Amino acid sequence: MAHDTNTLNWDILISNLQYRPLDHTSKPQASNIYLRLHPNQTADLYGFATLFASKIAVDTTAERQKYPAKYQPPSEDEYLLDDATALKISPMVQRIHHWRIGSHSTTKVRTCTHHDDEDTRFKQNDDSNGDGDDGDGFKFNCDCVLPLRERKVHAFLRQLSDNDCYMFDDINGAAAFNMRVSMALLLHGELDPILRICSHPGVGYRVWKTVQQCNCMPADEGWDQLYQLALRSYLMLNILRRFHELRVPPGGRRTAPYTETYRDTGLYQKIVHSCTNLEAEIPGLPHYFFFGVKNDTNQTIFTRAALRDLAKIDGPGAQWLLPPSFFSFLDSMTIRQQSDFLSKDEYPYGYVPFEIFCHEFSGTDIPSEAEREEAFRVLRSTVLPEELVLQVMDHAQVMDRVGSNGRMRQLPVPHDPLAEDNVAVLDQYLAECWRIMVQCSVFAHELGKDINWKSEVVYFLRHYIRGPDKELLDYVASELE
Ligand SMILES: [Zn+2]
Ligand SMILES: [Zn+2]
Repeated sequence: MAHDTNTLNWDILISNLQYRPLDHTSKPQASNIYLRLHPNQTADLYGFATLFASKIAVDTTAERQKYPAKYQPPSEDEYLLDDATALKISPMVQRIHHWRIGSHSTTKVRTCTHHDDEDTRFKQNDDSNGDGDDGDGFKFNCDCVLPLRERKVHAFLRQLSDNDCYMFDDINGAAAFNMRVSMALLLHGELDPILRICSHPGVGYRVWKTVQQCNCMPADEGWDQLYQLALRSYLMLNILRRFHELRVPPGGRRTAPYTETYRDTGLYQKIVHSCTNLEAEIPGLPHYFFFGVKNDTNQTIFTRAALRDLAKIDGPGAQWLLPPSFFSFLDSMTIRQQSDFLSKDEYPYGYVPFEIFCHEFSGTDIPSEAEREEAFRVLRSTVLPEELVLQVMDHAQVMDRVGSNGRMRQLPVPHDPLAEDNVAVLDQYLAECWRIMVQCSVFAHELGKDINWKSEVVYFLRHYIRGPDKELLDYVASELE
């Protein structure tokens, strides 16, 4: 679908926002985008949300019209996914094995031919001891990424069950695997099988919208993550690209005295982090390919000691110009905190320069296609035999596939989505975010419960953008019904 971001009233949104650097006289909590607290703020911003919702609604209707108005509910033994569709989504599905089941290295991307695999919903054993914690018995009987069994309608009718702490994978392993397959379909724009399964009266995706592994875990297992991450990133980039004074200078180098860019704002850092650092990886894939950040929740958590090291004259941060406020921030932390580890909530978004933020979250950079070709060329110009060169490249490819599914970094200029040379890729990515939102909207409608887009946009504004003294945009319940 052709998406034109210019049809939204960004001017009204932006006129209600202001940027404050760390050295602003008001001593802001972070380098960030703040509400201006204009008297018209509520009307303006709710107006923006209303228009946003109406644009999505128009595109949702248009998108739905591309498919048959009515589907015949499929029988349980039918294949919902043909070979071509199954192969198309297989590399992404392989990541599900890697992430959740830990069998990445042993599964193969190929068309499964194992017809003898038994069809089963992997229901919980209800007549056990009654605590509901007997596993569902989910296992793979062949090493194909997407066994034939998992492409049949019955696999798409598995239901979410209640589970105790830490028992999500045991109790809901089969249903969760299928939910992720469906998310992979949505991310690939494969709406036809989704609509077909939604016509079946036994489909259970409505309760899969917002799901947490258990009550003490974040609600990041449901398919709402697909459109929420897309919305967050879409709004954040569209806002920041309109603050021209925050562009990164050519060459990406900071100039003295310390100058902030959009990448130093809390808004940018918080959203890049939230879109690329997920327990349930699938919804984050489009975003970390775009931002060039690997999803690795095992990264060491930043410690106060590490932050202090950065500030040392010969420490790892010495190559960057650190803002004076960074040092006062460190002082305040030492006094306030007992533990040396920073929790996610404490992470100093908008306090640390982007270079430190990036160092923490991206680890090694994902190479671009051009860089891979250059490496190939250099290796070939050495005395190494061709066979060894191929082996080295193959190894690099494998290493990379673990991190990025074999896909290369998308941004020609890394870590600067708003750079002039990245405009084409940025626009493509924003259109992709919009498509994800629209197709999720079709999915929700088909399940009989529309997404309240106005409320989603207002939630974003209330959650990520505050006034200089943490003032919240008004919550007007009657506006959001
Ligand atoms: Zn197989
Ligand atoms: Zn728990």
